[in-house]
Amino acid sequence: MIENKDELARIITAENGKPLKEAQGEILYSASFLEWFAEEARRVYGDIIPASAKDRRILVLKQPVGVAAIITPWNFPSAMITRKVGAALAAGCTVVVKPAEDTPLSALALGELANQAGIPAGVYNVVPCSRQQTSAVGEVLCTDPLVAKISFTGSTATGKILLKHAAGTVKRVSMELGGHAPFIVFDSANVDHAVAGALASKYRNSGQTCVCTNRFLVQKGIHDKFVEKFAKAIEGELRVGSGFDENTTQGPLINEKAVEKVERHINDAVSQGASIVTGGKRHSLGKNFFEPTLLSNVTTKMLCTQEETFGPLAPVIKFDTEEEAIAIANAANVGLAGYFYSQDPAQIWRVAEQLEVGMVGVNEGIISSVESPFGGVKQSGLGREGSKYGIDEYLEIKYVCIGGL
Ligand code: NAD
Repeated sequence: MIENKDELARIITAENGKPLKEAQGEILYSASFLEWFAEEARRVYGDIIPASAKDRRILVLKQPVGVAAIITPWNFPSAMITRKVGAALAAGCTVVVKPAEDTPLSALALGELANQAGIPAGVYNVVPCSRQQTSAVGEVLCTDPLVAKISFTGSTATGKILLKHAAGTVKRVSMELGGHAPFIVFDSANVDHAVAGALASKYRNSGQTCVCTNRFLVQKGIHDKFVEKFAKAIEGELRVGSGFDENTTQGPLINEKAVEKVERHINDAVSQGASIVTGGKRHSLGKNFFEPTLLSNVTTKMLCTQEETFGPLAPVIKFDTEEEAIAIANAANVGLAGYFYSQDPAQIWRVAEQLEVGMVGVNEGIISSVESPFGGVKQSGLGREGSKYGIDEYLEIKYVCIGGL
């Protein structure tokens, strides 16, 4: 993958639209999972448990679960595959990958590289399919007794459908589902750091990442300064355009449906009293391009604070106390990532422990890395990916009791 970085990145930009530099970053990130899990494979240890009966020995073996079906989204067409496939192959499983309809080419390119690298036929399989075929293929993967494990990344709604299918044969399941990340800026925060973190967390991949901020909660003492500097940064640093243009920071959204959702959220918020600080409409470039948008005077009654936008929209809610911010943040029925900016050490502990999410960024807006356990609580999913924990999702524990000693 590293040798073919530029070509693989061009495939991502062509099928997903993200800026080439981000696509190159994704390829390095994707490759890091293969390297990481190649190393983790050497540490799949068993165990010997001291038995209470003197004439017995109890051994614990770790074995591959079997064939793993892997269903991935379009927002990271390469990394969402390798984060699963790296762990699965390291555990000794074979995989059947069903990539998203919008981005099948990255998955196929990895298949070609797998062939070139000498991975035996039948170990890494790709089943691209059209939108019409998706649910039938998904059903087969989730119900066929030959498949032992489903690992899915995508929306919570689809995750629930797959869970129901998988229940019939009690398959092992891992689910990385939707998020609704809060980004809390407390009065004690360094406002410039918070603005830089906000920009990166919100607008990477044009706001189409599951861990990207969906709700900004800003304490009243720092609110006006934060909004002013955030707007300036959006207007000064973000450039909408083709992903192949090297000045672009914001590519197009994935499809018309995604653009309509951003518009719906903005219209709903404005009709309930929110103000557009910057952006707010489709970009003059046309189809699927949307201006990076900042809204203030946002309340928890608005759609954009109740469900994931998955686009370049930053709504800001003003709050008064720490308790109020935590209550708003935790009101969501999903809990993937959460971020906050504070320079008060006691507050950092308190808030990190209380946020109901699987991943917390403290004074940091980008937190995904190969060594950290990725995953969510509540309806954001089941299980963890990456890190030393990721491989467990593809291993069964078997115990062997040897008696008569
Ligand atoms: P989606 O659920 O529509 O699609 C994801 C995948 O599921 C695609 O491959 C799609 O073809 C497939 N799919 C859809 N319906 C299916 C069905 N009935 N049976 C089988 N497969 C089916 O999600 P999306 O809109 O492509 O992606 C955006 C969502 O994914 C967001 O909610 C985002 O938060 C989430 N996401 C989560 C993570 C994470 O790690 N938690 C990462 C990226 C995206």
